This record gives sequence, structure tokens and C-alpha cells, in this order.
Amino acid sequence: MTLTAGVVAVQGDVSEHAEAVRRAGAAHGREVTVERIRTAGTVPDCDLLLLPGGESTTISRLLHDEGIAEEITAHVEAEKPVLATCAGLIVLSTDAGDDRVEELGLVDASVERNAFGRQADSFEAPLDVSGLDDPFPAVFIRAPVVGEVGDGVEVLASWDGRPVAIRDGPVVGTSFHPELTDDSRLHGLAFFRDG
Ligand code: GLN
Repeated sequence: MTLTAGVVAVQGDVSEHAEAVRRAGAAHGREVTVERIRTAGTVPDCDLLLLPGGESTTISRLLHDEGIAEEITAHVEAEKPVLATCAGLIVLSTDAGDDRVEELGLVDASVERNAFGRQADSFEAPLDVSGLDDPFPAVFIRAPVVGEVGDGVEVLASWDGRPVAIRDGPVVGTSFHPELTDDSRLHGLAFFRDG
């Protein structure tokens, strides 16, 4: 059966995520068709969901204005998998520490935005990720880190002693951008539970 993956396309690396989820599907013997989500009505048809990075203040406002936020909540409540990267993770968190972000509260974790400071605005690092045999080439761009996490949250990777990849039920969230490399193992972990 072909899987339908929805990429939230209000901002961010939409085509890179589309490619990565197709490659991860192929690596697991599954065909994936990709839908771009800009308005309400598409998320209910999706088996998998991807929330790219961008600017969390803008993304969260658009998701609420368009009625997509409720649909994402229903998707997670139905235990269907989600990969949320960078600003996507910020939007799904319980607390982004910024009144301009309307968090969806679907990942039981607080985040600290732009946590690596100006000097280290963006960098690449080989990251040990639980469930992957070899380090993942993680690209961080004005990245957040995860602060407090709830009991049910599994920390999949940390950098500098701070969590940068987590799993909470059907949702995997990363501070970094796994769609910016050819390596689709993180998409595999999120959607097929193995990289
Ligand atoms: N700094 C952005 C924010 O706080 C996130 C950056 C990104 O998604 N690459 O929304």
C-alpha cells in the first residue's frame, strides 16, 4: 500500500523533506506519495506528517489561522507518525518561551529558541542518535534545544549535553535539519521506527 506523507508547506524546506521521506520509504520497501499542506482538508488523508523549520512565530500563526493546527492535533491523537524539525518542533512543544508562538502542546517538552547563540548560528556535527548505528550528519541552523521533558519522552540525541532529538509517542522532533543531507535515516526512524 502506498503511504501518503503530508509536508506542511507554509514555510521551510518542503521539497527536501518530500525527497527524504520518499527515500526513507524506498529504503523500507514502501512507496510514498507527498501532499503539500497549505490549507485545511489535506492532513486527514495523510498517514505521515512532516513539519519543516522556518520561523516558529509565523508557522504557528498560519497553522492556527488556516485551521491546520486542529488537524495536526487529531493526527497525533490517532497515533499517526510525525517528524517535526527545528521550528516545527518549537511549534509542537508545550512551551517555546515566547508569547508570539502559539504552541500546539503535542510534544511534552519545553524548548529554548536560538539556543546556540549568534556565534554558532549554524553548524554541522556528527551526532550519535539512539537507534542509528553510525553518527548522523546533523545540520543546525539557528537551532533550539530541548529543555524540560515529560516522563514519556525519550531523548534520542544530545549535543553539548542538551537534548536535540526526542520521541514522544508518534512524534519525533529534532533541533537540526535532517532533510538537508542525503541521509534519510532520521526520516526512517520517525516513520518506520528504524533508520
Ligand atoms: N530560529 C527559528 C525559530 O525560532 C528556527 C530556525 C529553523 O527552523 N531553522 O523559529
